[in-house]
Amino acid sequence: MALALVAACRSPLAEVDQIYYRGPGPRVLCAASIDRAVHEDQASIDGALDRARDEGVVVQLYAHAPGRLVDPARIEAIAAGAARRGLASVTYAELADAPPARAGLALSFDDDDVAAWLGLADMLDRYQLRVTFFVTRFQELDATARAGLAELARRGHDVEAHGVHHLRAPEAVQEAGLDAYVRDEVLPSVAALTAAGFAPRVFAYPYGARTSTIDRALLAHVALVRSVAYPTDGLLVSDPCPE
Ligand SMILES: [Zn+2]
Repeated sequence: MALALVAACRSPLAEVDQIYYRGPGPRVLCAASIDRAVHEDQASIDGALDRARDEGVVVQLYAHAPGRLVDPARIEAIAAGAARRGLASVTYAELADAPPARAGLALSFDDDDVAAWLGLADMLDRYQLRVTFFVTRFQELDATARAGLAELARRGHDVEAHGVHHLRAPEAVQEAGLDAYVRDEVLPSVAALTAAGFAPRVFAYPYGARTSTIDRALLAHVALVRSVAYPTDGLLVSDPCPE
């Protein structure tokens, strides 16, 4: 009930300015969740896709575990909606090059649900939608999952970093210090993917949790960081993008 009330009070995504990429400059990018738990309605998502088309900007949406935490039918509705509006699919690797704005959708998936991601691949191909997978705990993925990630990359999707142990950054920094957080949680996450043949240049904060001090430290090593647009009760999302 509390979540539904929070959702009801939140602005429709067309009014959430932070989730639109308008061109080079900002290096802290912000996405809005389409997970079931946030109760974003389809009209709100359609409004965001409309704004991307009408203003020639890239809207950023993200999700977790397809099937478990986000409805695959919702993902397909977004893919179809983007195709219908002529939105380009934009990966974070492309945004790392600081391109000019264009009417587009940057859809990303966080964590380590490689089998479920592969289950989306044919549908994404049908809509020619390339997405970004922010991978955490890569060191725990078995050979099958690693091969799955390689297959997703081969099909044009982007594989980027999401932490060694999926820590909430502000707390990790408080406990171990900023240098240790960067050295032990962020850089090895990027390095492991690089060693496996991917080319990560972007780090997505677990839970979107960040501070401007941590942003500065990470942006010495990666081109962009991705956070999330608003706090979400019950989902550990606090310290998201600035308003
Ligand atoms: Zn995560």
